[in-house]
Amino acid sequence: MRVKIGIGQDSHRLEGDDTNRPLILGGVEIPSELSLLGNSDADVVLHALCNAISGISGEIIIGPYADKMCREQGITDSALYVKEALKTLKNYKITHVSIVIECFVPKIVSHIGQMRSRIAEILNIKTDDVGVTATSGEGLTSFGQGKGIQAFVSVTAMG
Ligand SMILES: [Zn+2]
Repeated sequence: MRVKIGIGQDSHRLEGDDTNRPLILGGVEIPSELSLLGNSDADVVLHALCNAISGISGEIIIGPYADKMCREQGITDSALYVKEALKTLKNYKITHVSIVIECFVPKIVSHIGQMRSRIAEILNIKTDDVGVTATSGEGLTSFGQGKGIQAFVSVTAMG
């Protein structure tokens, strides 16, 4: 039995709501007048999760692969990018996920429980094995100043 730990990061800009795009974070729609800029649903948490999975498998999903799914098949649901990333793990199984979200707006603390359940569902693990924290970092970065949202994810897998 081997243990591998992957780390992933992603960030997206926030924009005003003249597009009527929903703000999706961790697979959950967050009521907000702002939305994240991107070709897909711009779910920065699930993109960082894909990158953490890539850190284990060595196969890149976000970037060329997800862009292709978006452009050629019109797939904008980032949960489906995670499902593709999971296929690259082969015989490794995810046992734990830890997520840090840096943002100032919207306020996401009350949505963390729902995010944990949704991410556990996507990964087919227990909600207890998904940890999510949120911080504004005292406004020291662009994310803490409300210009965008950044996410860091670590994934532990055994195989
Ligand atoms: Zn992204």
